[in-house]
Amino acid sequence: MTDYLSTGTLPDDYRDLALTVRDFARQVVAPVAAKHDEEHSFPYEVVAGMAEMGLFGLPFPEEYGGMGGDYFALCLALEELGKIDQSVAITLEAGVSLGAMPIFRFGNDRQKQQWLPQLTSGRALAAFGLTEPGAGSDAGGTRTTAVLDGGDWIINGSKQFITNSGTDITRLVTVTAVTGQADGKKEISTILVPTDTPGFTAEPAYNKVGWNASDTHPLSFTDVRVPQENLLGERGRGYANFLRILDEGRIAIAALAVGAAQGCVEESVRYAKERAAFGQAIGRNQAIAFKIARMEARAHAARTAYYDAAALMLAGKPFKKQASIAKLIASEAAMDNARDATQIFGGYGFMNEYAVARHYRDSKILEIGEGTTEVQLMLIGRELGL
Ligand SMILES: Cc1cc2nc3c(=O)[nH]c(=O)nc-3n(C[C@H](O)[C@H](O)[C@H](O)COP(=O)(O)OP(=O)(O)OC[C@H]3O[C@@H](n4cnc5c(N)ncnc54)[C@H](O)[C@@H]3O)c2cc1C
Repeated sequence: MTDYLSTGTLPDDYRDLALTVRDFARQVVAPVAAKHDEEHSFPYEVVAGMAEMGLFGLPFPEEYGGMGGDYFALCLALEELGKIDQSVAITLEAGVSLGAMPIFRFGNDRQKQQWLPQLTSGRALAAFGLTEPGAGSDAGGTRTTAVLDGGDWIINGSKQFITNSGTDITRLVTVTAVTGQADGKKEISTILVPTDTPGFTAEPAYNKVGWNASDTHPLSFTDVRVPQENLLGERGRGYANFLRILDEGRIAIAALAVGAAQGCVEESVRYAKERAAFGQAIGRNQAIAFKIARMEARAHAARTAYYDAAALMLAGKPFKKQASIAKLIASEAAMDNARDATQIFGGYGFMNEYAVARHYRDSKILEIGEGTTEVQLMLIGRELGL
């Protein structure tokens, strides 16, 4: 990893990775994207392909079955997948940065040995259970409880909107729960809950506006009993640790969003050259060409923002503000580009089987998940001392 990354000067190993994932996205993901979107089905065959390529192990060391790469490599893969199918990209993003990463960052040796090899190989998925019916942006509002009883945690409560939490290969959910009170405040800790534990239920999947091939469920916990050793990281540090995971995750979501924004540009350029109206290709009208030029500028600016945040993170420097900026502008770029691309496609852009229509439905959640636009603005303001 170079100290400073800029677009167009990627070292060979990163560029080769991006090109390999680009080919996979075009040849394997694209042909089945509309079908899985329409059927709301989880793309097991695509996930198996990503696993075979080692994508679930990209930022992890080889001793845990990883590829020995870094977080920026993951971002490049997400950008390429995000161009073609956001559902597939978010499945990888959540599997790696929300599923396996908390264990890698905060787990002890035993927990890493037990869980990481299956997660980094993509044989299994772990989910990240933070959000609750009454605790989203205000994640400290957690009501789920975990009480120690004879060497076990007894967990009761519920989580909602949890990605990758109910697939056939989901094996683990990492949850935040209130484990007591400290200095008059809730003590929140993180606990590993294998999905075959009695009392744990992944309720029926949501019927979403987009990301239809991504797996999302409400979860319920009724007297779920797991050993005390399933505490992940220090007791009482659960909330702080999850916030660190979300800071990183914002760079990954930004990369996915840049992919979506760029995918809309590519579709629009192609269509604007092909589609004729009033005796010429629609792209010959400046109104269309300017729209696409602005879309390209948005995608480019958002890409430089996530490259910058990733470079700071990998250099071990503070990156909170830059991660929020990247997430903010990349998600807006994706939504704006999806709206413009749909307009350029005219009536076809409103037909579900078209990639731009899928981006139109899929992109909205980019402004909501892993911290809404308002939360990013709040975080940036705080970093400015406001
Ligand atoms: C498809 C999908 C997948 C998801 N995956 C996961 C997952 O894997 N794990 C997980 O834990 N969560 C997940 N989430 C949850 C997601 O992170 C939350 O939905 C998001 O953080 C917003 O929380 P909320 O829905 O409770 O909205 P709220 O927090 O209720 O916010 C409602 C609105 O109020 C605004 N708002 C709130 N507070 C303020 C304020 N102080 N100032 C200004 N505006 C404010 C928000 O920006 C928003 O516009 C997922 C959500 C979806 C839809």
